[in-house]
Amino acid sequence: MATLFSKIVHGEIPADIVYQDEMVTAFKDINPIAPVHILIVPNKEIATVNDVAPEDEQMLGHMFVVARQVARDLNIDQSGYRLLINCRGDAGQEVFHLHMHLLGGRKLGPMLAK
Ligand code: 5GP
Repeated sequence: MATLFSKIVHGEIPADIVYQDEMVTAFKDINPIAPVHILIVPNKEIATVNDVAPEDEQMLGHMFVVARQVARDLNIDQSGYRLLINCRGDAGQEVFHLHMHLLGGRKLGPMLAK
């Protein structure tokens, strides 16, 4: 069954898409935790970081290039931002379609709650 994010990638459910190409799609998080909160997802379904394969290397590198471009487009490249990927339960992963969070637009504080 298609993941929630696959449905967004294919336009089957709505999302505020800020960037899309043949490898990745970037869209606004529905429940933002920072003024800028974008999800960058592979168009291909990969459940978690545990499931990436050597043939995904180009796409995974491309996610960073897109993150840099979106950060520029949204004017947070100079103020700074955080890229975050959750993997499985202890990290709190909710959607099992690999995604990178791009967070910025305010001081984000320490990386982890103590
Ligand atoms: P995770 O906790 O898996 O790393 O992050 C999942 C993210 O997906 C959460 O930040 C959540 O707000 C976001 N999200 C869940 N459902 C939807 C949706 O239907 N649309 C969008 N745009 N974001 C979603």
